[in-house]
Amino acid sequence: MEGEQAIIPLPCKYRAEGCFETVLFNSKFGHEERCSFRIIYQCPIDPVCGQINGYKNMCIHLKNHHTNVFNFVDFVEERESFCIGVFKESENIVHAFHIKQWGLFFLQKVCVGDLTGLFMQVIRAATNQLDFNYSLEVCDHNETRKEYFKGCVLPMEKPTEEIMNTGKYLLLSDLILKTINTESPIMIVVRIWKNV
Ligand SMILES: [Zn+2]
Ligand SMILES: [Zn+2]
Repeated sequence: MEGEQAIIPLPCKYRAEGCFETVLFNSKFGHEERCSFRIIYQCPIDPVCGQINGYKNMCIHLKNHHTNVFNFVDFVEERESFCIGVFKESENIVHAFHIKQWGLFFLQKVCVGDLTGLFMQVIRAATNQLDFNYSLEVCDHNETRKEYFKGCVLPMEKPTEEIMNTGKYLLLSDLILKTINTESPIMIVVRIWKNV
């Protein structure tokens, strides 16, 4: 009887949070211990928002409450990369991309002293998925000032202080910051691809 039980595929207990993996009885506990859908996150779009959600509800929350900084991408699984250009003003640089088969990506802004940095974090759509890389290209409307950064997408659990210490982010120059603060919006070209 025990042997039979071990080979029956069972749903992960975080199915309601968005995990559609089926696991064998004897590996169910192990999976649920590290299932990426077990974690809940504070909404990173707006510090006053205060919403706390798991993966699935975060997607719904973004769609309903942050439409102006949210893109839903019904990606076909075979595609290798995602690219989009978004216009941004200083107060709403953060942006969320829900790439259905890959996960929920957040373009984040951090300020330390006079420095302003941009980086990308992800809540993955599956527990065992590959890592992702990304690049950011920031330019003003005349495309006279351009800045470029390439790095690996960081897991959402990673604390911001740690990211600042490693220096793995796009540091915005004074010229670009001046553009954002005084002139028209800047254009950020975001590219995300699988790390193979
Ligand atoms: Zn799971
Ligand atoms: Zn929110």
